[in-house]
Amino acid sequence: MRRRIVAGNWKMNGSKDLVQQLVGPVREQAGRLDNGAEVVIIPPALYVSAVQAEAGDDLATGVQNVSQWQSGAYTGEVSADMARDMGCGYVLVGHSERRQLFGETDETVAAKVEQVLQSGLTAVLCVGETLEQREAGDAERVVATQVIRGLARVEGESWSQVVVAYEPVWAIGTGRTATAEDAQAMHAEIRNVLSSMKAPAESISVLYGGSVKADNAAALFSEPDIDGGLIGGASLKADEFISICRSFPAGS
Ligand code: PEP
Repeated sequence: MRRRIVAGNWKMNGSKDLVQQLVGPVREQAGRLDNGAEVVIIPPALYVSAVQAEAGDDLATGVQNVSQWQSGAYTGEVSADMARDMGCGYVLVGHSERRQLFGETDETVAAKVEQVLQSGLTAVLCVGETLEQREAGDAERVVATQVIRGLARVEGESWSQVVVAYEPVWAIGTGRTATAEDAQAMHAEIRNVLSSMKAPAESISVLYGGSVKADNAAALFSEPDIDGGLIGGASLKADEFISICRSFPAGS
């Protein structure tokens, strides 16, 4: 019922050469998977067209960020409408690197989610606690607040364009992953929060992100509330990424 998704966030990595080396093999071995998972490549925006040329219709594409405004005098920004115009299906919103390094607040995140939904694309809202917050026993409250504030402007039919990615900050790019049990517990909690917002929680995909690799993806993806992954470092290696895309339990 819920969409299974594996999305590769290249962050500020990549080149024309990497597009050539990586996208073809991913398309051949992970495009149109029989496990039903949608595979999404999210390169830096400049490379979206190059990725699409290699990906054809077998892989979806997305961008890592968009402006909170629709259009106008915002030098350096890219809008959600532009992402749609260029054939993207997904937009990451509120990645922890944008919150931490670029000062994005929950209010900015909510405005960006609204832009993405208005453009008809799927918003992948990224949420997650820092190590300090987890150790203080505050992880659930922090994540719930990010979900509630980040999705504050969503209503009605547009919930179908929302995906949530739980990415504990302490697990991103560190090689440390949440255990499948801990991730499952937080995903179930996110679904509770979505229900309390009157969202169709059972049909909203919740992805896990944070040092997902070929050797830990299967355990994570077999949890009932984990619908796939947002993959950083491992999405830059074709074999590793393909293997993650194939890690859903068989027969479900
Ligand atoms: C990310 O960038 O969203 C991410 C999860 O990175 P990594 O897989 O490298 O931890």
